Amino acid sequence: MHSPQFTAEPSSNDTAERDFLGLPASGADRAPLRFDVIIAGCGPTGAMLAAELRLHDVRVLVLEKETEPVSFARIVGLHIRSLELMAMRGLLDRILERGRRRPVGGIFAAIPKPAPEGLDSAHAYLLGIPQPVIDQLLEEHAIELGAQVRRGCAVAGFEQDDEGVTVELSNGNQLRSRYLVGCDGARSTVRKLLGVGFPGEPSRTDTLMGEMEVGVPQEEIAAKVTEISETHKRFWLRPAGVGVYSVVVPAAGVSDRAEPPTLEDFKQQLRTIAGTDFGVHSPRWLSRFGDATRLAERYRVGRVLLAGDAAHIHPPAGGQGLNLGVQDAVNLGWKLAAQIHGWAPETLLDTYQAERHPVAEDVLDNTRAQMELSSTEPGPQAVRRLLTELMDFDEVNRYLIEKITAIGIRYDFGAGPDLLGRRLRDIDLKQGHLYDQLHRGRGLLLDRTERLTVGGWSDRVDYLAPTATSPGSATISRTSTTTSPAGSARPDPRDLAGPRLMRGSTSGSAGRCRSTGPVSCRWRYRR
Ligand SMILES: Cc1cc2nc3c(=O)[nH]c(=O)nc-3n(C[C@H](O)[C@H](O)[C@H](O)COP(=O)(O)OP(=O)(O)OC[C@H]3O[C@@H](n4cnc5c(N)ncnc54)[C@H](O)[C@@H]3O)c2cc1C
Repeated sequence: MHSPQFTAEPSSNDTAERDFLGLPASGADRAPLRFDVIIAGCGPTGAMLAAELRLHDVRVLVLEKETEPVSFARIVGLHIRSLELMAMRGLLDRILERGRRRPVGGIFAAIPKPAPEGLDSAHAYLLGIPQPVIDQLLEEHAIELGAQVRRGCAVAGFEQDDEGVTVELSNGNQLRSRYLVGCDGARSTVRKLLGVGFPGEPSRTDTLMGEMEVGVPQEEIAAKVTEISETHKRFWLRPAGVGVYSVVVPAAGVSDRAEPPTLEDFKQQLRTIAGTDFGVHSPRWLSRFGDATRLAERYRVGRVLLAGDAAHIHPPAGGQGLNLGVQDAVNLGWKLAAQIHGWAPETLLDTYQAERHPVAEDVLDNTRAQMELSSTEPGPQAVRRLLTELMDFDEVNRYLIEKITAIGIRYDFGAGPDLLGRRLRDIDLKQGHLYDQLHRGRGLLLDRTERLTVGGWSDRVDYLAPTATSPGSATISRTSTTTSPAGSARPDPRDLAGPRLMRGSTSGSAGRCRSTGPVSCRWRYRR
């Protein structure tokens, strides 16, 4: 894996410890500005953001309230766009080793349709991986890149001023940084303290989920599950190890999420729905989740930002939450770094909300739709049958898959060629894979004309004259391979890589994002 050299701040152990623990709030002095960014929460979003910021030499501290990583072995699905991002950061091989590839079809509302042919990606599969594994890999990645992660430290409060943010820990101590990002999950303290509205719908249905042993033969379970899942979409028992099953069953009602369910709750619900409790016993873990759907009104207030579940929550239909958070982190990382290093235009940081808020809005809507389609009521069941028929049309199936896997996203950069604002798939070039050029998270100027130069921007933009045929004469790819416009003539480098790149990121994008149908990529590739 690529490991860049970073300028580490010389600090004695004492100083390092003080950095972490902060200064007592009662002290007359304000805590020194030792960090550029403090991130609240070391879930997948916080860890990914920390790593992205480190790629740009930003001093990052991640504060995580839990002393140990969560051990819940819930399997999550990593979708195509996230797998592509992992490839761009040199993480994909590590992640593939620990997960299981599955076909990408049958994801939308669990309607069993195969994936459309020829999805435009080198990674057109779904990766099933336990969430603790992905959490751990991303945390390790952030630490390898130089992020400091402090567990057992909860963010309890903060105050912002013109120069920075004073963050108060639950022990009463204070730390200061230039920016604070709340990646602290659905019940985000940062969001609440910011006073940002979180409109949407409360949970209407809860689902119990856990792992436990069963007391009946496998065949008996399989037969019953096949029968019940005809009508109940939130019901399954799947083998999860020797003698252990992963059990999902609708809960009796909506309850306090902080209260974990009991084994008796599972037994009762299994008996109600399946007529038997399958002799379940010896639970490994028990949990519940709801279908609350909410979106933060703003992703940024001054020097404080929100990302991941702190900014949006929705039911797990289609397995999109973690993917969305990791993608938020990649979108935000380089912009916040640019702001900190002083080369971002005024509006750059606000393009984070302009680009990502509409994407979350779209995910919330598709999960609302999927939840309706999982209802056992006759109306939604009829709509489900109709959609099942419609998905036999390739365009419909493709549209839905591209939406869930996030490869259909197009940020609105105004009028331009088809690829403008879209991501570029990985392709083979004479120089290797395109995505391998992006491990350092820098911009990339792809220049088929071989006449351009990044000139004065060589500290942040790489140059590549690809041998494949490009859709335009030149393209600036941002750090996550979203295409932005460049020019065909030889421009002044600052004009090209700076204002043009930024103009591409900001113009006309406020509040708009289109998830559009397939576009044929005019690159020639060999896979
Ligand atoms: C049953 C189920 C299945 C799912 N399946 C999928 C799937 O297949 N694919 C998918 O993409 N997503 C899935 N999800 C969603 C996914 O788990 C979440 O979207 C994801 O964990 C969000 O990551 P995050 O980092 O934003 O927040 P979290 O994972 O919630 O992490 C937030 C972190 O912040 C910490 N924290 C909280 N408060 C503070 C504080 N005050 N100070 C410091 N730290 C704090 C927490 O301890 C936690 O570690 C599923 C969810 C459920 C419930």
